Amino acid sequence: MVIQIKKFYITTPIYYINDIPTVGNAYTTMATDILARWHRILGDNVFFLTGLDENSIKTVQAAKEKGFANIQDYADSMAEIWKNVWSVLDISNDDFIRTTEERHKVIVLEFFKNVFDKGDIYKGNYEGLYCDSCEQFYTEKDLEDSLCPFHKKPPKKIAEENYFFRLSRYQKIMINHIKNNPDFIKPQSRRNEVLSFIRKGLQDVSISRPNLEWGIDLPIDSEHKFWVWFDALINYISADPSKWPADVQLMAKDILRFHCVIWPAMLISAGYELPKTIFVHGFFTIEGQKISKSLGGIIDPLKIVEKYGVDALRYFLFREVPFGQDGDFSEKSLIQRINSDLADALGNLVNRVLVLTEKKFNGLIPKPCGKSKLTGLALNVKKGVKSSMENFQFHNALNDIWHLVNETNRYINETKPWEVKDEKELGGILYNLLETLRFISILLYPFMPSTAEKIFEQIGLEKKFSFDDLRWGHLKHGIMINRGEILFEKVKLKN
Ligand code: ZN
Repeated sequence: MVIQIKKFYITTPIYYINDIPTVGNAYTTMATDILARWHRILGDNVFFLTGLDENSIKTVQAAKEKGFANIQDYADSMAEIWKNVWSVLDISNDDFIRTTEERHKVIVLEFFKNVFDKGDIYKGNYEGLYCDSCEQFYTEKDLEDSLCPFHKKPPKKIAEENYFFRLSRYQKIMINHIKNNPDFIKPQSRRNEVLSFIRKGLQDVSISRPNLEWGIDLPIDSEHKFWVWFDALINYISADPSKWPADVQLMAKDILRFHCVIWPAMLISAGYELPKTIFVHGFFTIEGQKISKSLGGIIDPLKIVEKYGVDALRYFLFREVPFGQDGDFSEKSLIQRINSDLADALGNLVNRVLVLTEKKFNGLIPKPCGKSKLTGLALNVKKGVKSSMENFQFHNALNDIWHLVNETNRYINETKPWEVKDEKELGGILYNLLETLRFISILLYPFMPSTAEKIFEQIGLEKKFSFDDLRWGHLKHGIMINRGEILFEKVKLKN
C-alpha cells in the first residue's frame, strides 16, 4: 500500500514592518499556527509561511522617523523584532519571507512577465484617491463620509501616470469561481461581501507608482516601481514556488479585497492556481477600543505574555471569541479564564491525578480495568474537535476539550478513588484518568503546545503528538510518571 502524505500549505498575511507586532497580528499568526500544528498531528506535510512586506512607502517613512540613514538597516532591525515575537509566542512557521529578498524579486519579475504577456498591463493616467496608510486606491463609493473606511482620514487626491492591471477583465471569471467553490472564501458572510463587491463592477487597478525611492523596479519602465501590494501578494509564491497553491490563507478583514479580489485575478492572469481557502477573521478590540498606539503597552503581545504566559494568551484569544467574528480582549476576562479554566479546572485535574498515582501506585501507571464513561466521552470529544477544526471553529474545539476536562474532574468526585479499597478497581479508575489526560494533551497541543508537552512529560510520555494515537487503551501501564510543578498559578484580580 502506498501511503500518500497530504501537503498542507498555510500562510499568515504578509505584515508591514513599520511597527512592532500588535496583539491583533499575534491573533492572526497564532490562528495560523494552531492550524499548522493541527495538520502536523494529523500527519500532513505542513508548510507554514509568514513574513514581512518591506517595500512599502511606510517603511521609508518609519526608517526616517527613527533616524536610520539606510532603509535596509531599518528593515533588518524590524525583521529581527518580528521573528523574536513569533518565537516567544511559540509560532512554528517553516519559513519567513521578506519582500526585500532576492528570491522574492525573481518571482515577482517572472509573475509580472506572465501578466504582461497576457496583455493585462497597460499605461494610463490615474486621477483619484489614495490612502497612504492602506496604500490603496479608493473610489468615492468606497469612502465613508469621504474618509478612508479604515483610517478615518481623507485620502489624497493624486494625478499621475501609472501602469494598470486589467482587473475588470476578471469580473465574470471571479464570480464563477466563487460560486463554484463554496470553500474559497470563508466565512459565508465574507464570501457574500466579496461577491457583492465584484458584482458592482471591477475597475482596473494601478500597479506602479512613479518616482518612488524604495521598492522593486518595474522592468518595463525605469521611472516606475511596483505598487507595493502587487509585489507583496506574490510572496505567497516566491517563498517556495513548489508549495503553491496555498491550502489556507488567513487574514483580518481589512485586507479582504486585496486577497479576495486582486490577488485571485492576478493569479488567473499569470496562469497560477488559486488558493483553496481564504479565511477572513474579524477585528480585535482591546478593552472595547480599536487597536491603536494610544492604548499603550497592552497592544504589545510580549507584555501580556510576560505577565500571564504564552499558553494563557493563546487559550484565551481562541476560547473567548468565535473565530471569524469581531472580539474584544480584556485583561479582566483573561484573568478569569486563567483562574477558572486553566488553574482550577485543567491544572488542578492534572495535579490530582498525578498525586493519586504517586500515593496509590508509587508513581507507576496501573493496569486498565474495563471501560468507563470517560472512554466514550473522550472518543466523542476527539470526533467533535476534528470536525470543529475542519470548520475553523476553534472556540468549539476548546469548549469540547474543556467539557472533557470538567467531566474528568467530576469522574474523580464520583468514583472517590481515595475510598476505593480494591486495588484492581482503583487501578482501573486511575488508568482511565491518566488515559483521558493523554487525550486532552493531544487535542490541546495545537492551541497550547507547551502545556501539552508539560502534561505528556508529567505522565511519563515522549513528547510526540499524533492524532492516530487517540485510541483508547494506547497508554501503556507500568510507565513511571514524573509529577512536576503545577501548570497554572491563579492570578489575583486587581480592581
Ligand atoms: Zn486607509
